[in-house]
Amino acid sequence: MNFVPYAIPFFILAILVEFVYARMTGRYPYRLNDTVSSLTMGTVSRLMGVVRLGLTAFLFEWLIDGRTLLIISTESALAWIAAFILYDLCYYFSHRYGHEWRILWAAHVAHHQSEEFNLSTALRQTSTGYLNAIFYVPLYLIGFPAEMLIAVGSLNLIYQFWVHTEHVRRIGFLEYILVTPSNHRVHHAKNPCYIDRNYGGVFILWDRLFGTFEDERENEPCVYGITEQLNSFNPVWANVHVYLQGFKDMAAATHWKDKMLLWFKGPGFKPEGTDQEPHDWQAPKFDPEVTLLVKRYTFVHFWLMVIATFVVLGFQHAISPLELYLLAGLCLAGFCSLGWLLEGKRYAFPFEAARMIGSGLVASVVLSQAAVAIAGLVVSLVVVSLGVLFFGKKQMTLEQA
Ligand SMILES: [Zn+2]
Ligand SMILES: [Zn+2]
Repeated sequence: MNFVPYAIPFFILAILVEFVYARMTGRYPYRLNDTVSSLTMGTVSRLMGVVRLGLTAFLFEWLIDGRTLLIISTESALAWIAAFILYDLCYYFSHRYGHEWRILWAAHVAHHQSEEFNLSTALRQTSTGYLNAIFYVPLYLIGFPAEMLIAVGSLNLIYQFWVHTEHVRRIGFLEYILVTPSNHRVHHAKNPCYIDRNYGGVFILWDRLFGTFEDERENEPCVYGITEQLNSFNPVWANVHVYLQGFKDMAAATHWKDKMLLWFKGPGFKPEGTDQEPHDWQAPKFDPEVTLLVKRYTFVHFWLMVIATFVVLGFQHAISPLELYLLAGLCLAGFCSLGWLLEGKRYAFPFEAARMIGSGLVASVVLSQAAVAIAGLVVSLVVVSLGVLFFGKKQMTLEQA
């Protein structure tokens, strides 16, 4: 059983609590563009891979069927404990190579692009993490059933949610055993002394054992994000930029050996012939100015898009694949459009207007049989949105002048 879908409402609630607490205390406040971007990445990853986890697990089980070392029963409590611990060990290596090999970093980078560190960062997930499944093959070979691994895997992921916060500083002796907010802050930091450290999922013991542990230092505040800044709130770009840079470097590399090797070296490996420019880890955060109206518009439409995405996911088995792809495409276009609005891109306004008209048309076709009230609601939403966009753009042009 995958527990993640059941945890999502609690995640949203916890983010809300942290947001209010940060507002009240004035410490580590949320930034709208960063939060929308992180939550967009989480939503898009659900859209792209809702059945992936289960499919991969059952595929492995089928491939290995009858050739396992042991026969493990899901009734055994000891087996569950062993599965939970061993899953975390595999997670450690999967995560470590997720940073040390560019081919895996290309997927995992999505989790690290945020330049803030709060509970919304936890939901910043990749849409392309297909290859990491190979790190769990040993567990299938041992004989752990797929449903057991899906369950402990989802619990592992759920545990990792709460460690993405600045508000919990240190938690005593548990710092030695568990992944905590303090040691996970170090993992997300790009300070040279913190980089490529603390890969654990639930237990930090693995890092202490394999020499990748680094403690948070009082005099070295964490600077979050990736050294090669993303400078974008577009979820598609966030998911593909390292792959594209890899292909560019492959084409530019002088030696043939490097062209292949670069995918299995750290993301900082720049072979001869490629762009050698160093990146400043202390560069200012990417935080473009947009008007309050644009911020409000994006905030409201972001939540509408999240609801729309989960409705599409909920009905995925009731609609044809073509309809599914069309609606998923519309959702993705919506998130890209909101990202561009937050970046203050000039083409964001006509694109968003076109998206609203397109969504209105699709909705009116889909809803032709349904209540007129819903259609009326959609039409008024389109009209209001176009109005806001028009005035938003006007206001922006005035401020820029
Ligand atoms: Zn990581
Ligand atoms: Zn994290």
